Formats: sequence, C-alpha cells, structure tokens
Amino acid sequence: MPRPTTQSAWLNNTCRRCTCLFSSAVLSTFPPLVTAVLICHPDLTHDMMTGINIEPEAREEIVIRCAWLVNPGEPPRQNIRITIVDGTVAEMCETPADELARVEAVALMPSFVNAHTHLEFSRLTSPLSPPAPFTDWIRSVIQYRSEDPHELHFATDGICSGLRESRQAGVRLIGEITTTETGVRTLQQKLQKSQMSGVSFRESIGFSTEHISTQLNVADRHVRVTPASDTVTDRKYLVRGLSPHAPYSVHPELFEGLVDIARRSSAPVAMHLAETVDEVELLQNQTGRFVNFLQSLNIWDPQTLSPGTAPLRYLEKLAQLDRALAVHGNYFGRDEIEFLSRHPHVAVVYCPRTHTYFGHKSHPWQKLQSAGAVVLLGTDSRASNPDLSVWKELQFVASQKNAAPIWELLPMITTSAAATLGFDKTDFVVKVGNRFQAVSLPCQCDSELHLNATLIRSAEVTEMSL
Ligand SMILES: [Zn+2]
Repeated sequence: MPRPTTQSAWLNNTCRRCTCLFSSAVLSTFPPLVTAVLICHPDLTHDMMTGINIEPEAREEIVIRCAWLVNPGEPPRQNIRITIVDGTVAEMCETPADELARVEAVALMPSFVNAHTHLEFSRLTSPLSPPAPFTDWIRSVIQYRSEDPHELHFATDGICSGLRESRQAGVRLIGEITTTETGVRTLQQKLQKSQMSGVSFRESIGFSTEHISTQLNVADRHVRVTPASDTVTDRKYLVRGLSPHAPYSVHPELFEGLVDIARRSSAPVAMHLAETVDEVELLQNQTGRFVNFLQSLNIWDPQTLSPGTAPLRYLEKLAQLDRALAVHGNYFGRDEIEFLSRHPHVAVVYCPRTHTYFGHKSHPWQKLQSAGAVVLLGTDSRASNPDLSVWKELQFVASQKNAAPIWELLPMITTSAAATLGFDKTDFVVKVGNRFQAVSLPCQCDSELHLNATLIRSAEVTEMSL
C-alpha cells in the first residue's frame, strides 16, 4: 500500500486518537472503498510528531464498509464495517446507522486458492487444438514444448506471467505442476516476491521401465532439499510435492516408487486421474486410442498394465499419503466416489472450463460432494483454458443446475483447497486477527437470492489485499 511521501500529503488531517496534526491519508489506490487513517504511535509525543520523519512510527488504520461480506461456508453478512490496523483485521461489526450512507456497493471475499495449474503454459493466448481426441491434444502439447527445447521460457516467462495473472485474479495460493529445476527456483523466488504461496508438485513422466530410476532420483532430490538450499522463509512460501503425471504416462512401478518417496517425506501428491474415457479403457482392457498413441512413441508394452485395472487402484495408493489431489476425476464411477467419501484427505480437483473445452460428459462433482468427498477447483493451464481465473471456475460451477449458493461453494477455492495443500485454511477467511487478504466486486443488492445471482454473473474480481 502506498504511503504519503511528502509533508504536503499529510495536510488537513488529524490523528484519530488524539487530534494532533499527525495525519491521515485517503488512499488513491482504493477509492472510494476505503478511508485510511494514520494514528500516531502511542510512544511519541505531539512535539515529536511534527517532523516529517515520523512516518515509520505510524500505525495505519483502514476502515472498509462493504454492502456484503462473503466468507466460505457462512451465510453472507450485510453492511459490515471492517477496521484494519497495520494490515491485520482488528474489528468487524455491523456498520453503525449513522455511517450507513458510507457503505460501498461491493461484496468482499477472502483471497482464493487455485488447486491445479501448469503456469509454464501461461504465455499461450488461447488453448491448444484440437481438443479431441485427447491424444491429438497431447501431441499439440509435445509440439508446443519442442519449440523451446531448453525449456527456459516455460520455466521463467511462463511462470512469471502466470503468477502475475493469478495474483491479479485474487489468488494467493496455488498448486503448481513443475517440470524443471529452473521452474522450481523461479516459482520459489516469484511466490515470495508476489506475497503468494504454493506447492511445487514435481512432475514425473516415464511409461517404460528404463526411465523409472532416473525419475525416482529426480523426485527424491526434489523433496529432500537440504537446509542450505531451502531456507525457512523459502519453505513458508513453497512446499515441495510430487506429481506422477497420469496412468497412461507413468509406469505402475514408477507410480508406486513415487508414492513411497512421498510417504517417507510427507510430501503431497497430485495426479491426473480418470480424465478421459480412453484412459479408463486403457486401464481396463489395454485397448483404444492410448495404445495407438503409446505405440507411435515406441513405448507401448502390453505387459505394463494389468487387465481390469480401474482408477480406484490409484486412489487406494494415494490414500496412503497424508494428503493428495486426484486431478480431474471426470470419469470416476460409483466405486471411486464411495472410496473418496471415506478418504477425504484425497481431494478431487475439478477443472470446470477445461472439462468443457474437451467436451466431456457431466462431471460427478455434485455426487462426490453429496457422498462427503472433498472437491476443489483448478484452472488447469492456458493450454486448455482461456485464462487462470479460479473465480470464473467457481462462477461456472455455481451457475450449474441445482448448485448451492456461491458462499457454500466458496470453500472449493479457499478453505478446503488450502487445507488439502497443507496450508492454514483459516488464512482464507476474512476475520479478526487475520492479515487482510481479500477481493472485491461491485454488488448492489438487498437479498441473499439477488446477491447469489449478482456474484455468479459479476465481472472479474478486484484484488485488494494490502
Ligand atoms: Zn493438469
């Protein structure tokens, strides 16, 4: 937040506490939503406060009066006054009657969590084609990556651009799939700089046996970093996890080895699972498009997969971990849903607009939630999605038939998502004692029904964290 830098910016204001000439400033960045007031430091005398150098001693107070406060899983609260001191929420109450005229027509929500991204693709301006068949889309991804053989731009420009876009869209925590060491380092540095946090799920791909030991070594190094290479501060911003890519790209022995490493190091794991009908057919019968695809890459071995394998087999392994993400789950059936309802530490990450881009039949997210399973939302990448706004993913979900009000779905991109990624879920609630991290959007309505409709059709949110 900008501070006044010259004495002229402090004129005509008084300290809220004692009426000294120590000043207040109306912030140019958030008009007309907030009024910022500087309070003199209790240890300073009035004489001391006449100088221009007293700014570092000041305490900053910001008062926000919003028409609606929308916290995850709670009924929305109307006409709320929030007092923020030094960036922390100090008080929240109903706006007093004599201040109601100053309530702004906005809804406030906590910052968001995007549970599944591949920021390396963030320089794409539109999704890669064709969306079907899925194996042809994978060929386009391989082609796109081959244009940057050293992967420097993926690992630097793409991640930087993706983090910038994410932060502007109100995201403070991401679950990111990383594919190179350069990518991990870039992510670590830029997260800290952007005041964001994330999990780097190091991706492993290897369907033939010859790649297993190399991939296991890379994964082991990634999660077993020494204190010299990762400081405590680094670890606050970045948690290290693993990502066996998918059943069609990871040998079963490699998958089991990665789960073992993750279990020993308490690392979270994210895996694409049950994404397409073709993948389910490959596991069940070892037939279909994926066989042709793997044959064309000269890595198909009919002995690799056991007949009758189901996505459930992979979920059972993932459930041995402290926490895991089963990404997509578009074709989870009754057995998988029942299993996930008993293992809520394995969350499903539904990527709604990516799901639509590929033309899948309806996602079982409502069946999963009704059964008690945990469902989160992710954007996936710009290779299959027009942007990285996880808020738009939630709007998309909330507009579906029989969907609950948006505040009941909000944990999918806030508290539930943070907990599954291993972070403190209470950080993603606007409440007294928390750092103020929030987004706002225009909202002029008087009822919860109208509020829900307004939130679903609103434009992009404005990131307003301090
Ligand atoms: Zn993905």
